[in-house]
Amino acid sequence: MHELSIVCSIVELASQAAEGRSVRRVTIEIGTLSGVEPEAVAFCFPEVARGTPVEDATLDIREIDAKARCEVCGAEFPTPDMLSACPCGSRQFQRLRGEELNIKSIEVEEAA
Ligand SMILES: [Zn+2]
Repeated sequence: MHELSIVCSIVELASQAAEGRSVRRVTIEIGTLSGVEPEAVAFCFPEVARGTPVEDATLDIREIDAKARCEVCGAEFPTPDMLSACPCGSRQFQRLRGEELNIKSIEVEEAA
C-alpha cells in the first residue's frame, strides 16, 4: 500500500526531528490530487508510530483543495479532478496546488 510507505517516512522524519524527545503533534498537508488517501494515512499512523518517539503524537491532516489558474482568462478555479476545465471552457491552465504532500510541522515536547 502506497500510504504505508508515506506514513513510514513521516514517522521516520518526525522521530529524527524529535532528537530523543517525544513528538506531540505532526501536521501534514495532503493535496486532493496527490493520490494519497488521508483516511488510509490516518489509519496506518498509529501502527507505524508504535514503539517510536511518535507513538503518542496526534496526526493532524489538512486536505488541500486543488486549484489552477487559467492561461486564457486568468481566473483561478478549483480542479477537483484531472479532467477539470476553466469556467470559460479553456483547458489550458497551470496547477497552483493540490498535488502536495508536505509535513507542515512537527511539535516536540519541551526538553525537561
Ligand atoms: Zn478561463
